[in-house]
Amino acid sequence: LREMNAKYLWHPMGHPGEARENAPRIIKGAEGTEIIDIDGHRSVDAVGGLWCVNLGYSNDAVKQAISDQLWELPYYSSFAGTSNPPAIEASYAVQEFFAEDGMVRSFFTSGGSDSVETALRLSRQYHRLRGEPTRTKFLSLKKGYHGTHFGGASVNGNNRFRIGYEPLLPGCFHLPSPYCYRNPFDAIDPELLAQKIAAAAVDEIEFQDPSTIAAFIMEPIQGAGGVIVPDASFMKLMREICDKYGILMISDEVITGFGRTGDWSGARHWGVKPDMMTCAKGITSGYFPVGAVMIGEKVADVFENAGADGAIWHGYTYSAHPVGAAAVVACLSETLRLDTKTNAAARGTQLYDGVCKLAEKYDIIGDVRGGHGLMTGIEIVSDRDAKTPMDGETMKRIHQTAYENGAMVRLGAHNILMSPPLTITEAEVDRIVGALDKGFAAA
Ligand code: PMP
Repeated sequence: LREMNAKYLWHPMGHPGEARENAPRIIKGAEGTEIIDIDGHRSVDAVGGLWCVNLGYSNDAVKQAISDQLWELPYYSSFAGTSNPPAIEASYAVQEFFAEDGMVRSFFTSGGSDSVETALRLSRQYHRLRGEPTRTKFLSLKKGYHGTHFGGASVNGNNRFRIGYEPLLPGCFHLPSPYCYRNPFDAIDPELLAQKIAAAAVDEIEFQDPSTIAAFIMEPIQGAGGVIVPDASFMKLMREICDKYGILMISDEVITGFGRTGDWSGARHWGVKPDMMTCAKGITSGYFPVGAVMIGEKVADVFENAGADGAIWHGYTYSAHPVGAAAVVACLSETLRLDTKTNAAARGTQLYDGVCKLAEKYDIIGDVRGGHGLMTGIEIVSDRDAKTPMDGETMKRIHQTAYENGAMVRLGAHNILMSPPLTITEAEVDRIVGALDKGFAAA
């Protein structure tokens, strides 16, 4: 397997040599919150697959629902004049979670990138139908991650995902991230930083001409960019700006949706109702590739009152795939039954506090971010005062030592990122903190 993995399986996310280096971590099985590699080594999955395995790996109800649906109806499309029962039930299930955020309809996709692409495309159509076809540009935040399609890559706020793919969508502008530890304003007060970014947004919008901007997209808590938690005022400020200039607000909830932050949506933490929400990952807990875009009344009305013009010719062969939709229904029913948001909040605080204690012990920990459910980021530095980013070799050593000691964490550029299943136990969180302790000691 190791040889074939290195030879035939393409691993383009990262350095090509990593396919060989990472070969020992071939995961062959999983149980509950643990993953098992081909050597039989077990570790707590502190990454939750890729921020997605919210219910853990052993949810029988989800597995059974997927299996039953395969025998009932393995495939039929949900657009081009047809629908299917699980798709309809899934749209109702999603509604139960996001009605409070003002959402009224769902469109299903095959993952997060598809959902972002759909939301961006929908934004332009929304303005066209309202007689403002000049609104084609997008605003987003640096350090934001919105997937790998051309639209998502265009609004991504990390050059790593953009370089070599240009020309991307024209008219995409990236505002500073609400990243207190490092920002162009040297603002260490989160509220002040929020105001500075909002002012920069107004400046950019005025400069671009407000009648050319279609939408602003942001993650309520930035995930892949390093678990960056904005000040409580930030999303609200951006909502006010979007309203003032007629710009749609898209909340990218691919990570934050369905309980990870300790509430069912990230936007709800900040008291904001977006115009559209994108989600994926936790919608099926990784048991089947599904994503969704939810739209609020304002957007739905425009499409539904547009008559024949409201047809926008957007859809995928696998939109609302019946087996995927059955996975959604079962996963969301389990999510409610287990009330995963409550455990996420409690275990999230435990993990965050545990890591803060490690920061007292190891001065290579520059910044600890999280405190809202099970999303925790640790920024590693070689010099705490100068905030010098830690070198890659040391980062790998932390990662490998933590793994050997029973926790699979995610390695960012100089960050350790964690997003374990929302079903994680107190003892398992302790195991993660213990494994990290060993990793930092080795570094
Ligand atoms: N948006 C966000 C906020 C994400 O975190 C991700 C994936 N990490 C995506 C979009 C893209 O999702 P996918 O990888 O399922 O295409």
